[in-house]
Amino acid sequence: MIRVRFAPSPTGYLHVGGARTALFNYLFAKHYDGKFVLRIEDTDVSRSTKEYEEQLMESLLWMGITWDEGPDVGGETGPYRQTERTDIYVKMVEELINSGKAYRVYAYPEEIETLHDDLLSQGKPPHYDQQMLEKFNTSERKKEFEDKGLNPVVFFKMPRKEYRLVDLIKGEVIFKEGSIGDFVILRSNNQPIYNFAVVVDDILMEITHVIRGDDHLSNTLRQLALYEAFEAPIPFFAHVSMILGPDGKKLSKRHGDTSVEQFRDKGFLPEAFFNFLTLLGWSHPEGKEILSYGEIIESFTIDRVNTSAAIFDEAKARWMNGVYIRETDLDRITDLTIPFLVRAGLITLEEANANRKWLKRAIDSVRKGVELLQEIPEKMKLYFEEIQVKPLRPENEEQRKVFRSLEAFKDRIEYLNSWSNEEIVSTIKEILKEIKPDRKAFYMSLRHVLTASEEGPELVDVVFLLGRNKTLHRLQQALR
Ligand code: GLU
Repeated sequence: MIRVRFAPSPTGYLHVGGARTALFNYLFAKHYDGKFVLRIEDTDVSRSTKEYEEQLMESLLWMGITWDEGPDVGGETGPYRQTERTDIYVKMVEELINSGKAYRVYAYPEEIETLHDDLLSQGKPPHYDQQMLEKFNTSERKKEFEDKGLNPVVFFKMPRKEYRLVDLIKGEVIFKEGSIGDFVILRSNNQPIYNFAVVVDDILMEITHVIRGDDHLSNTLRQLALYEAFEAPIPFFAHVSMILGPDGKKLSKRHGDTSVEQFRDKGFLPEAFFNFLTLLGWSHPEGKEILSYGEIIESFTIDRVNTSAAIFDEAKARWMNGVYIRETDLDRITDLTIPFLVRAGLITLEEANANRKWLKRAIDSVRKGVELLQEIPEKMKLYFEEIQVKPLRPENEEQRKVFRSLEAFKDRIEYLNSWSNEEIVSTIKEILKEIKPDRKAFYMSLRHVLTASEEGPELVDVVFLLGRNKTLHRLQQALR
């Protein structure tokens, strides 16, 4: 059974990079019918917060990513918050100490720092070994620590040998012998360091594939050595290339919005965002870009993940979102648009529910031209707000014909039996036939009177959606 995990640190909002990592893990699990675990890596207690943890989960759920095991849903290999696993780490550290693969050091942090600086000043790499460190372990020092209630730090004895990784994306990676020295695995406050906690968790949570950003590639050396020390099977690793901004630099706030929340708030559809993120570093076998959820899951394999970095192009994301806005089921678009209309003060939730049929048509009339849901309220204002209509003053014969046509239109729609697109269209046709104004001039003028704009939704839709009273009122003002 394939088991993958997404292991965010709750120290900020979920960003595009993290969201992509979560998504690739999720897709991989879904493709192979495996399990997706959410693990919260909150060992950095000074920067981790519950709010960020909740935000992270909310952002994942918004994207349509769910997990089989995690802090909220539980599971057999939990707990799923690292701060709740301290006992496990301490026990695993003991195991390594007992087998001679790790050792306690009764040194103060400053002493280790001095050692570090000394090595550097001697022109040596700052790699510690057991001999250098155990010189601190005098019996007086042990007693001093005991008296003061201090814990020793625990170092892992890094084997001096070459490590080799066959990464599913990067290919073979060689870590040369002696490239690092012994390293801390447990701090004196019993907090494990990241590399240790990750390996312990990945072993106990039976993770088979570690899919993560390639900024973690250098950590893999320490992790490989720890797997070996625990005599645990090493999972497959897949290090995904970073996401870059259009300028080729690592994607960051400088490039604009990068958190999932920001994309949600400006009106990305979760399914469009999901589709877009999928293509940040992965491609469909036939090069298709607009892909359904099912198509993505069906075709997602690691061998189609690019080895080169992906460029984040927000213009493309917007284009894709526009396609989804136009093509997604109208009921769903309506549901997603209502909060934007409410926020813009155009409508209340009650009104939206009471006039749903009308609202759907109104949204449908404007959705062709938008890329973000947040653009919709502006386009729909014409249906809600009063507009300034100036009286028309025809100056030549052509304009007088248009004026008369508008008058005829006003007179006829006042008494239309049914208020429907068909009736409106046939009324316009009759007038064009009888009065023969310049068609284009007539349409332009009618549009201008009704919307105070040169462009917008289909004219017949505008008339229908404004309704008889508003249409008549605007015409009356123009024709006074
Ligand atoms: N907690 C790490 C992070 O936030 C992820 C660790 C991993 O995926 O191995 O980047």
